[in-house]
Amino acid sequence: KGRTGDIPRGRVRDLLERERGSFERLHPGSRELYERSGTSLFGGVPMSWMMKWSGGFPVFAEKAEGSTVIDVDGNEYADFCLGDTGAMTGHAPPAVAETVGGQAARAITTMMPSPDAPIVGEALSERFGLPLWQVTLSATDANRFAIRMAREITGRPRILVFNWCYHGTVDETFAVLHEGRVVARPGNVGPPVELERTTRVVEFNDPEALEEALSHEDVACVLAEPAMTNIGIVPPAPGFHETLRDLTRRHGTLLVIDETHTISTGYGGYTREHGLTPDILTVGKTIGGGVPAGAFGLTREVAGRALARKDADYVDVGGVGGTLAGNALSVAAMRTALTQVLTEDAYRHTVPLAGRFEEGVREAIARAGAPWNVVRLGCRVEYGFSPDPPRNGSEAAASHDDDLETLLHLYALNRGVLITPFHNMALMAPTTTEAQVDRHTEIFSEALDELYA
Ligand code: PMP
Repeated sequence: KGRTGDIPRGRVRDLLERERGSFERLHPGSRELYERSGTSLFGGVPMSWMMKWSGGFPVFAEKAEGSTVIDVDGNEYADFCLGDTGAMTGHAPPAVAETVGGQAARAITTMMPSPDAPIVGEALSERFGLPLWQVTLSATDANRFAIRMAREITGRPRILVFNWCYHGTVDETFAVLHEGRVVARPGNVGPPVELERTTRVVEFNDPEALEEALSHEDVACVLAEPAMTNIGIVPPAPGFHETLRDLTRRHGTLLVIDETHTISTGYGGYTREHGLTPDILTVGKTIGGGVPAGAFGLTREVAGRALARKDADYVDVGGVGGTLAGNALSVAAMRTALTQVLTEDAYRHTVPLAGRFEEGVREAIARAGAPWNVVRLGCRVEYGFSPDPPRNGSEAAASHDDDLETLLHLYALNRGVLITPFHNMALMAPTTTEAQVDRHTEIFSEALDELYA
């Protein structure tokens, strides 16, 4: 009996083969574009992550509007991937599209602040509670700059992350525990130095290990998602955040909370919903309604300590910043996405819908008797191949099943439903409908029936 219960592996492979056949038949236009792209693009795609889709070659998207994507072959999808959170606002929200069009005609990038800048600062402060903000082009950059500032003001060399975390392409974070030692995560492309020199790693929800790691007092900051979301969802155990905050304070370590995905929890992310008090908060993806944008917020204390370091160069080549960061187009998109799209009302629609999605999945799992679980974080839902939700990154990683995951993604895709190509994640947008959720439930149940027949 495998971790995915009684499913014969031959059945998974047979179904995969059948679904790949359907995929080929449904996507001749995508295949043609993919073949053409292969002659000029590394991997046949503009960004190698776009290879992650399950059909054997990527689906080329023609149009993405609201919660619907239409591909170059005219296939229509209910989209629960939503650009892996980049489009949690729904695709091309009309208010953002209008703002972007108007702004593009006025100014795109100048290296000068635009009049929208204070509106964005105020919107971020009001939402997340931290008073002082910087804008970046991505969540990765927000995390990179937060780490640099934490090192600079604490004078400490290391950061601490949780095992199997993901925070963007940030060198220091690609560290995992292997037999008690910190090593580069498998597959890490060209790590610059041995990861144990930059990073301490402990399991999520392990207060003793955290205390031990911080007691060396060489950790500038803990960088943490408030609930892990990138190895499946791993919720924090009761009391873990209080302990994390107490221990970081006690050992002079800054706490950086990465809300890039957990902004699904509610209007002000997990931080607002659960009253967390980070020293720095980072965020990205959806806050520009799909236009590249990231941001990090600082407490007054952190900002004061940063500015007191007179030799630290924040205005030129000190290592924090970017030529296009804070450009007028991104800032305009953020203003509209934050004030008109990602509203409290939007969450009043998306969170219950995610509840409906979760219930549908839970019932289908129970009906099939599958040893699977489903977890929800506001408007984000994830199912996993273990009877109970994982308690840390290692447990989550151990329950992964590549073939099964690929099959479920492809099964849904061939029937007009997209979930994220990374693990089994679904996200609701203000434009998502009950009918789309129910369609997913129906397809998911069919897949389970075939698997557990
Ligand atoms: N933080 C978290 C929690 C993320 O999930 C991601 C991306 N998946 C990032 C940061 C980095 O985002 P980006 O790739 O847009 O820089």
